[in-house]
Amino acid sequence: MIRLSPEQALKKIESNWPSSGTESIPLSQASQRILAEDIISDRAQPPFDRVTMDGYAFYFDETNNSREFQLESSAFAGEAAAELQNKNNCIEIATGAPIPVGCNCVVPYEQCSEEHNCIRLSEDFKANAYTNIHRMGSDCPANSSLLETGTRIYARHISVIASMGYATLSVRALPRITLCSTGDELVEVDANILPHQIRRSNSYTLESIIKQQHCGLCEVQHLEDRKESVSAFIEQQLKESDILIFCGAVSKGKKDFVAPCLEDAGFETLFHGIAQKPGKPMWFGKHPKGCIAFGLPGNPVSTHFCFQHYLLPFLIEAPRQSLILPLAADITNKSPLCSFPPAKINDEKSAEAIAFNTSGDYLSLAQSDGYLEIAPQQELKAGEPVRFTYWNG
Ligand code: AMP
Ligand code: MG
Repeated sequence: MIRLSPEQALKKIESNWPSSGTESIPLSQASQRILAEDIISDRAQPPFDRVTMDGYAFYFDETNNSREFQLESSAFAGEAAAELQNKNNCIEIATGAPIPVGCNCVVPYEQCSEEHNCIRLSEDFKANAYTNIHRMGSDCPANSSLLETGTRIYARHISVIASMGYATLSVRALPRITLCSTGDELVEVDANILPHQIRRSNSYTLESIIKQQHCGLCEVQHLEDRKESVSAFIEQQLKESDILIFCGAVSKGKKDFVAPCLEDAGFETLFHGIAQKPGKPMWFGKHPKGCIAFGLPGNPVSTHFCFQHYLLPFLIEAPRQSLILPLAADITNKSPLCSFPPAKINDEKSAEAIAFNTSGDYLSLAQSDGYLEIAPQQELKAGEPVRFTYWNG
């Protein structure tokens, strides 16, 4: 199969990404989910002329300019609007209360004095119509669309959703993702390890990103390098998963059964191989029943990069966080493959590729903040602009 460029691979994935359904969830579980409905204001905001300081409400009249008022009554937040009986009087008022009918100005306690129920405005208090009043409808009118479908919900959105009365809300359903590591050399983290074995790490890495990003319901499995096991597992997953992610067994080795087994199970290969390093043998395909599958090369740097670059933007419905930075040191990519080396941003705000031994060098990955993008046959000098993309999660 012809190798795709990174851009072509991304387009293929985008055009075959399954559209997720929607589900209704309680507000308390909305953090990081993606809105599947617009959030509409059910009332004007604020819904009444809201007092913003504790103090006294009175009627400001330009023609009169009175600086002394008799205390008439008190009113608090949570009470219906009080009413001023006499324009020479004032009402003691609390933050959050509606401005009393007949009043249009609030003087804070700090800017007045009180003696025998007579309130006197300080010299420095400049009275004006609607001073210290958050006017009804000044933030938005009723029936305004405040948050749009597709918005990822963060803490800053929650008060908007709560304030508009959404005890439950419609969000995109989370895809059922199964992460499957493969390899007879791989053992559990807490196993008694033999010299020729290594501990599996890839599924932990990917699971941690999915959990941190709240972008899928995640199951984790490990498979031995046996065709029958891989095939039986895929058959089962067709009923249980929307997205299947394999780590390893996707290149040309005799025991690399992932791609042939996926094809045997009815998956159409949409690509097998991207002109890139790391992650050259990456596989992507789709089953007629809707399940999509990815075969990520098993080396930890490859798995991590491929997941971040090719899957995560679609899982979280957000573009990667990329920026153009000056390169810290010369870099040459003599190969015909696009290079995505792990990199860090150093103090002087330049991007520096991190030396790594092979795609299996997960120790150098831990020193990186993201990765660079160096085109095939490209030679870049220190100071020249380079695209840097942050790891997510
Ligand atoms: P593969 O893609 O199966 O040929 O694996 C390439 C290299 O990555 C091998 O050295 C594997 O042992 C290693 N590898 C594969 N899967 C994992 C994993 N889940 N955790 C850590 N290393 C892995
Ligand atoms: Mg393997």
